[in-house]
Amino acid sequence: PQAGEPLLQVERLRKQFGGLVAVNDVSFGIRAGEIIGLIGPNGAGKSTTFNLITGVLPASGGSVHFRGEDVSGLPSREIARRGVSRTFQHVKMMAEMTVLENVALGAYLRGHSGTLRALLRLDRAEEARLFREAELQLRRIGMAEQAHELAGNLALGPQRLMEIARALCSDPALLLLDEPAAGLRHKEKQALAEVLRQLQREGLSVLLVEHDMEFVMGLTDRLVVMEFGTKLIEGTPAEVQASPEVRAAYLGT
Ligand code: ADP
Ligand code: MG
Repeated sequence: PQAGEPLLQVERLRKQFGGLVAVNDVSFGIRAGEIIGLIGPNGAGKSTTFNLITGVLPASGGSVHFRGEDVSGLPSREIARRGVSRTFQHVKMMAEMTVLENVALGAYLRGHSGTLRALLRLDRAEEARLFREAELQLRRIGMAEQAHELAGNLALGPQRLMEIARALCSDPALLLLDEPAAGLRHKEKQALAEVLRQLQREGLSVLLVEHDMEFVMGLTDRLVVMEFGTKLIEGTPAEVQASPEVRAAYLGT
């Protein structure tokens, strides 16, 4: 997609869990090449919004358009195939496998029905293609040197980067990251921010949920603030920081 072109449009998105409205008619858009932050207190509906966009959960209402097409209700695998990729709030990995194997496995599982047994029936050419792709993405984010380390031996920062490499397989246009900086050391956060800026320069769009305000404010082009399932405000980091509503509701000042 061309920089600045509308990429994702979320329109009156809604999710109810029984009597709880977790996401309440939320609308926002993302343009190609933007880094957008989705912020708000715990329970605001941020992860659920991710699950609705990526088709992990069915919405109770509203729509999601990606590159002009309605993807609402499509299976998550199909949404991934069209170019929306994500990481989860908690690192998912096979600790006993190498970084490269983890990335290749993730790339494989995103394209298939999710049974490990099928992986054992892969033909050599397909397997070689997956490993080439995994290597390429690890190199892209500066992790080529750790490709053959056991994933379980990595610090949290490199583990998060490994997850991003996995999400990058199959070349998405939009990356959704759920709290990628949580628990990271300052240096690891800086490395993560640098990787995300580089991906942005390559034309990718990123939507990230994050609690670390310093990290978010320095990295994002725009912020969407949620509270109790609804969108409170949307604006540049400076606009959001200056907003009395946000200060009262979220920053607590
Ligand atoms: P956030 O990511 O902003 O912290 P979530 O989207 O995880 O918030 O949760 C929003 C609300 O929806 C919370 O009240 C949470 O308890 C509830 N919720 C999330 N997932 C489910 C689920 N699968 N079933 C029932 N309630 C859920
Ligand atoms: Mg969450």
